[in-house]
Amino acid sequence: VNARNDEEASAKAAAANVDSGAPTIFDKIIAKEIPSTIVYEDEKVLAFRDINPQAPVHVLVIPKFRDGLTQLGKAEARHEEILGHLLYASKIVAEKEGILDGFRVVINSGPTACQSVYHLHLHVLGGRQMKWPPG
Ligand code: C5P
Repeated sequence: VNARNDEEASAKAAAANVDSGAPTIFDKIIAKEIPSTIVYEDEKVLAFRDINPQAPVHVLVIPKFRDGLTQLGKAEARHEEILGHLLYASKIVAEKEGILDGFRVVINSGPTACQSVYHLHLHVLGGRQMKWPPG
């Protein structure tokens, strides 16, 4: 019951969190105004450790230029290249972290999926046995 209450509370919190298109905390991380532990970086993407890790390896991969891509559900044809690059960067992160034998890439898109930061990000998770289906 407690777990279910927690889940409902977090879904409600996420639902209150609207995609306003405003800058997010990730812009400050990209600008290095807020410190983060960077795992991989190139001219287009930044990968850094999640502050609330859900697995021994939990890295977020984000585009440096959001270009309207607040969530995957807002993707347009012009984003195809960056979307492919983000996915490939996730593989590089998995390789660097030593989890290429088994890892998961997750994108929460929109409040129903519990997205909380409206700057597209790929969660790269691994280092433990994963379960399926996810909650
Ligand atoms: O997919 P969702 O939007 O819920 O994920 C946001 C993620 O960003 C969370 O896993 C949260 O821990 C992480 N985060 C972070 N550093 C921040 C704010 C959020 O790593 N300053």
